[in-house]
Amino acid sequence: MLTKSNKTDVIVVGAGPAGIACAITLARAGREVVLIERGLFAGSKNVFGGAIYTKPTKEIFPNFEQEAPLERRNIAHNFMILGEEDSTSIAYRKDGNESYSVIRGKFDRWMAQKAKEAGVILVEQTVVRELIKNGTKVVGVKTELEDYYADIVVLADGVNSLLAKQ
Ligand SMILES: Cc1cc2nc3c(=O)[nH]c(=O)nc-3n(C[C@H](O)[C@H](O)[C@H](O)COP(=O)(O)OP(=O)(O)OC[C@H]3O[C@@H](n4cnc5c(N)ncnc54)[C@H](O)[C@@H]3O)c2cc1C
Repeated sequence: MLTKSNKTDVIVVGAGPAGIACAITLARAGREVVLIERGLFAGSKNVFGGAIYTKPTKEIFPNFEQEAPLERRNIAHNFMILGEEDSTSIAYRKDGNESYSVIRGKFDRWMAQKAKEAGVILVEQTVVRELIKNGTKVVGVKTELEDYYADIVVLADGVNSLLAKQ
């Protein structure tokens, strides 16, 4: 549990794959980590094409193929290069396990549960509004409800991060 001063070793903003991977890696290394997600639960706001790749996922979750909510193995792969007026497709089939289709609402939630089991403090339904600075150093984050402080703040709030602009 956090102390009354809401100070922890690391705050990670955003419980997508990057934020969860970061949080769980630090927690396994013995750090106290607070992971803050604005969605109702991890993955509730996230959509993508559907493929997660086995090699990098196994580095964080060695048994994910047995444990995670996977939909199916991907065997047919199609890549399309779009031009202004035309497109070129490359397709191949491989009957292996290099990727699986997943639904982010289920898969991210499973990853977040694994992070909690590793000791990560997951704070959901909470938007980080701004960074707290001491001079030029970021020392915490402001949410709608309370402020959190940490030695390190990691922004994993996605490609269009408004916080990164701060
Ligand atoms: C159309 C499309 C299809 C794609 N298909 C694939 C695919 O098939 N396979 C693949 O591997 N990749 C795919 N990608 C890319 C993939 O979606 C991203 O690489 C991946 O989601 C990035 O993960 P992330 O953790 O960095 O960010 P995100 O998944 O975007 O997670 C960021 C998290 O931060 C939270 N957040 C944001 N702001 C705040 C805030 N202020 N306070 C608190 N929480 C906040 C969000 O709610 C979200 O949960 C696709 C992308 C697009 C756009």
